[in-house]
Amino acid sequence: TNPAYDPDNIFAKILKGEIPSVKLYEDDDTLAFMDVMPQATGHLLVIPKAASRNMLDADPAVLSRLMPMVQKLAVAAKEAFDADGVSVAQFNEAAAGQTVNHLHFHIIPRHEGVPLKA
Ligand code: 5GP
Repeated sequence: TNPAYDPDNIFAKILKGEIPSVKLYEDDDTLAFMDVMPQATGHLLVIPKAASRNMLDADPAVLSRLMPMVQKLAVAAKEAFDADGVSVAQFNEAAAGQTVNHLHFHIIPRHEGVPLKA
């Protein structure tokens, strides 16, 4: 079974406006904002407003609304930062590298030969 969703996780606080963020896009279902510790210039995060820890416990209907926005924002970020490629990454649970327990997709513009920052 999945661990419970913590309604006071950092991204829940961003959604509630309790923590500031640099917002790029928002609609009824989705928020996109800049990552506070970017692994490359233009690193942004896309989250559903619906509560889920990660992809393992997400409602498939939420994912099906979210993924077209992930695609649009990946295309837009690649264009905006004149990137050669774009990484889309997503981690589930601490063992996989997840540190904030609200579903999120990383969108990271990439340039040829430039490694990610730690
Ligand atoms: P994870 O490792 O869980 O996939 O990634 C969580 C991401 O959230 C990290 O890239 C981290 O820099 C970012 N992050 C953590 N705290 C904050 C915050 O308060 N604001 C923003 N904008 N990003 C955050």
